[in-house]
Amino acid sequence: MLGGTFDPVHLGHLRSAVELREALALDRVHMIPAAMPPLRGEPRVSPDERLALLRLGIADTPGLVADPRELERDGPSYSADTLASLRGEVGDEARLVMALGYDAFLRLADWRDPERLFALAHVVVIDRPDHEAALPAALRELLAGREVEQGEALMAHPAGKLLRLRLPSRMAISATEVRRRLATGRSVRYLLPEAVEARILARGLYRHA
Ligand code: ATP
Repeated sequence: MLGGTFDPVHLGHLRSAVELREALALDRVHMIPAAMPPLRGEPRVSPDERLALLRLGIADTPGLVADPRELERDGPSYSADTLASLRGEVGDEARLVMALGYDAFLRLADWRDPERLFALAHVVVIDRPDHEAALPAALRELLAGREVEQGEALMAHPAGKLLRLRLPSRMAISATEVRRRLATGRSVRYLLPEAVEARILARGLYRHA
């Protein structure tokens, strides 16, 4: 699972998803847009539009799935509920991974029921070149004894471990910067798939700050 706001999806998300799948030999990466992310402001465009952009961005990429399950639920999008639903589909024995970027990881201890996340899945943190703050104390406590050094160490268990991954193509691309560029009429070429850029420009999305 790679959850997010995807407001809008960009190449940092997509390239990370491809490399994550390869690095951990995952069957699939479900990219799951949040309807209402509990810990941040309202996304700039509607959930359906973010999903449409995500589908366009993924196109026919093998192993990547645009998964609308959080948009089909009422209320805030809690990742533990999403993982429980994925766990129900893959069964108790399969490896389930919740991947997130380092910036999102820094706030993990504030999420609803963080212990339950580890009961349901491994947590894999993707390093981002633009985010490097130290871990807060509450997070260090939550992680005690969970960290493993290699992806192979996740193979032996269906859930419960923490792995930090530095993927080959670390990209300093953020949706915030993409939105800022669009709001000021600057180019977003090569930050997003071209089809995503074309739809955003054709619909005038993110044009006003
Ligand atoms: P924003 O700038 O609006 O906060 P974002 O670019 O961080 O957005 P999100 O939709 O919030 O995008 O991210 C979804 C997930 O993808 C998060 O776990 C985030 O950390 C991760 N992510 C986003 N951009 C990158 C990137 N360039 N490299 C690796 N992971 C990323």
